[in-house]
Amino acid sequence: GGTIGVLGGGQLGRMLALAGRNMGYRFVTLDPTEDAPCGQVADEQILANFDDVEAARKLAALSDVITYEFENVDAHVTSILMNESYVPQGSELLYTTQHRLREKRAIEAAGVPVAPYAEIKSAAELKDAVIKFGTPCVLKTATGGYDGKGQWVIRSLDEVEEAYETLSRAKTELVLEQFIHFDKELSVIAARSPRGEVKAFPAAENIHVHNILHQSIVPARIPADVQQEAEKLATQIAESLGVIGLIAVELFLTKDGQLYVNELAPRPHNSGHYTMEACRTSQFEQHVRAICNLPLGSTELLSPVVMVNLLGEHIEPLNGKVDQPGFLEAADLGVSAKVHLYGKKEAKEKRKMGHINLLTSDVEQALTWIERTRIWESK
Ligand code: ATP
Ligand code: MG
Ligand code: MG
Repeated sequence: GGTIGVLGGGQLGRMLALAGRNMGYRFVTLDPTEDAPCGQVADEQILANFDDVEAARKLAALSDVITYEFENVDAHVTSILMNESYVPQGSELLYTTQHRLREKRAIEAAGVPVAPYAEIKSAAELKDAVIKFGTPCVLKTATGGYDGKGQWVIRSLDEVEEAYETLSRAKTELVLEQFIHFDKELSVIAARSPRGEVKAFPAAENIHVHNILHQSIVPARIPADVQQEAEKLATQIAESLGVIGLIAVELFLTKDGQLYVNELAPRPHNSGHYTMEACRTSQFEQHVRAICNLPLGSTELLSPVVMVNLLGEHIEPLNGKVDQPGFLEAADLGVSAKVHLYGKKEAKEKRKMGHINLLTSDVEQALTWIERTRIWESK
């Protein structure tokens, strides 16, 4: 038992609380929005901004253990929480993963490859680096980016000035990355506990649409040795960074079998939602186990699975289909659809509203199910 405090009230916190409550823990969330997905299922919620020092103190006073569901936690708030409660994940991991340059250096220090990159401090430096890496290449803000925001794919030298001007407005350092002509994008989620136990979930093959995750396919359609290598790299990162809790590792796989890490997230990850029904232990249960220093659960895959995201624009088409015979149990395809909704009221375009885990003996059948329902056809 005990109370787990969660900084952030989104769907990751919600699914964490749902898993943790089943394990006997109480949950308190801190989030500025009323009726937030996590607040709806938590035992108690504190309605306040994330930089509200008094609210952070209150969360600390109510919690035995504190975790977060996003990485951009204010350093001052983290130090208050660490002094007045227990934050097993620590501040170092946040500090590293909040900043692409620090993150890349930490990945390299773990002996894991990243795409060639350069720190950019001026338009002149950018021009030199673009010449060195060749086009296309990707300019990114070092902090604050998500869903492809804060990025510019530079396709010719003519774009250098405009790309630099535009991204400099974010008032953070900039990083230029060589463009990796990947064959597939993968992710591996690993967990590490304070006693040093590490377990990785099976690698997911991720398909993005407009820079937002659309599908995760597991097992990834890659050779077994590449799967093992990706899982090994994630384990190496978890150990080298001294991770407590989950670390999500996004990777590029090239045609010739080379793996590069793209970025990390020190929390449950959208590409790990497939674990909810498809693995013996879900990523959320595993995170609770890790931060509470329990033995980690088995990450064994029980069934092939395709996870497909439900964005705001998919809710109406879904509602028109969900009660039709054969929708949830597509027996002819051998696919079983498990729908998860996050309790968000307003179905805004591109907002993550939920996801569906398609359990199957053959992932191609699940992909056929996705086509057949036509819910995602507008994209
Ligand atoms: P997330 O929502 O996953 O946090 P993000 O905004 O932090 O996304 P990245 O994951 O760095 O951004 O990049 C978004 C996508 O852009 C990647 O999933 C990949 O498809 C593409 N991309 C990013 N960097 C590169 C690169 N160096 N070479 C090729 N493609 C890239
Ligand atoms: Mg990111
Ligand atoms: Mg990413």
